[in-house]
Amino acid sequence: MSIQGRKASKGQPANGVTLQLLSPLRCGVSSSPLLHKVARDRMRELPCPGCGALFQDIDGPVHRYMESSAGCWAAYGEVLAREYTDPRYAHIHRLTVDAYAVQHPGRSSPQSIQSVAVHLISLCLILEYDVDMHRATEAIGVAIQAKGKYRWLPPPVGTYARTVADVQKACTVQEHHDLVHAWAKCVWSFWSEHHATIHTWLPSGNLRYRAGTTPDLGSPTS
Ligand SMILES: [Zn+2]
Repeated sequence: MSIQGRKASKGQPANGVTLQLLSPLRCGVSSSPLLHKVARDRMRELPCPGCGALFQDIDGPVHRYMESSAGCWAAYGEVLAREYTDPRYAHIHRLTVDAYAVQHPGRSSPQSIQSVAVHLISLCLILEYDVDMHRATEAIGVAIQAKGKYRWLPPPVGTYARTVADVQKACTVQEHHDLVHAWAKCVWSFWSEHHATIHTWLPSGNLRYRAGTTPDLGSPTS
């Protein structure tokens, strides 16, 4: 997942800005100088157009098609920085990327349609079929090849109970793991009206989802 971003002045994005990865977080405290500044300035908070969570109304980069507020994108960048800079988080990174991408679907476009589809496929394999993260990443690689197979799924209407803002507050590796897992389950459940469609999109063939076994995609584990 690219973290190349576009710069968004408040409500007015522009292209060509790369999101700067930030240092790992201290417990419950943002390490972002930018976020420290806006906290000092007591700027107002705005709901993210993707996940709905409230973030400081800041200027900053956002993703090219995963529509979010700049504050939400900055929070995601901090969570990614924590995962990229400490191998203890590697086991959960797949779910972080999947949950964020699905929660910020953007609008119907070839890139958005494919992004939402493959990240929902990954969530399905991990959470319903108990596929490990490495195999899920392999499955995404297979799913991406199926160009034209997917269609735009209208994002469900409602309010997410969990967002990247919850993960940002984690104080320990275990807490981070638990919060990401709960976030991913929340996102997968939120998209339940599309589960039947996603089941039909699961890649098949000779990909082995579980170590040493050929996948039986007919019976979810939960
Ligand atoms: Zn968001």
